[in-house]
Amino acid sequence: MSYAVKEIFKTLQGEGAQSGRAAVFCRFSGCNLWSGREQDRASSVCSFCDTDFVGMDGTGGGRFADAAALVDAVEEAWGEGAHGRYIVLTGGEPLLQVDDALIEALHSRGFEIGVETNGTQAAPAGIDWICVSPKADAALHLTGGDELKLVYPQATARPEQFEHLDFTHFFLQPMDAPEAADNLAATIAYCTDTLDRSIQTESSRRIHGHSYRAEVTVRGRPDPVTGMVVDLGVLEQMIEDARDALDHRFLDEINDLGPATMENLSRWIWDRLHPVIANLHRVSVFRDSSGETCTFWGEEVAA
Ligand code: SF4
Repeated sequence: MSYAVKEIFKTLQGEGAQSGRAAVFCRFSGCNLWSGREQDRASSVCSFCDTDFVGMDGTGGGRFADAAALVDAVEEAWGEGAHGRYIVLTGGEPLLQVDDALIEALHSRGFEIGVETNGTQAAPAGIDWICVSPKADAALHLTGGDELKLVYPQATARPEQFEHLDFTHFFLQPMDAPEAADNLAATIAYCTDTLDRSIQTESSRRIHGHSYRAEVTVRGRPDPVTGMVVDLGVLEQMIEDARDALDHRFLDEINDLGPATMENLSRWIWDRLHPVIANLHRVSVFRDSSGETCTFWGEEVAA
């Protein structure tokens, strides 16, 4: 079979879990979700495409008579060196053309093979890295792979529709459109909100990045000799030690903390201070980003 290719070029992968890796990109011509003609855009399944996949006139593009001819061109684009050879088969929709013969020919020349697909087509066996980017309400044929990369927002392709699928990595990619800044803000907000939901539904057992602030209160009468309720030098040192033990650490890995809830944090600080600070009255933990507070008053009051 022959292959229609828009362009072939070497670059660094700029998206997803393979970001930064040197790769030859082979962009196949044609897509099943849009003709590539502007007059068809509004009525197409995929209406936001920013890729030119029409024709075979790009750098290194053309009609290749068979798999060997195409892999010759890919090898030439890679240049010197057999180490770390990696190709990304993209499009358009590459799986309209990628077949067993091409996979075998690429592997025989030492290329690891990635594919970026809209997921609507079956994939030949042997592809090493499958990245699916669902589009609108186009039915998915590929429901598993290495990464799912969803352009966001799409009214008929919401992240919740795909989070149960069998992928190792999940990414949101802000839609590149005139509203790009709004889309970026919406993407960040969605990820932030989802992280909060995960913490609540999984008892805060995941590693996460909240910032906390703690407040320690002591109560009592001044010592008749020193005139102090508490030696502030000792108290400050105790607080500093507790802060050192928590700050910039994965809270889930602190053995005697338990699940990293605000309740456990306030109790944990109390337990560190109370053996030395007998006048300790309460420990409050604040998460300013959400306005939440938790106060621990010691065992007798809390019971
Ligand atoms: S599926 Fe991909 S290549 Fe096809 S129209 Fe949509 S964004 Fe463009």
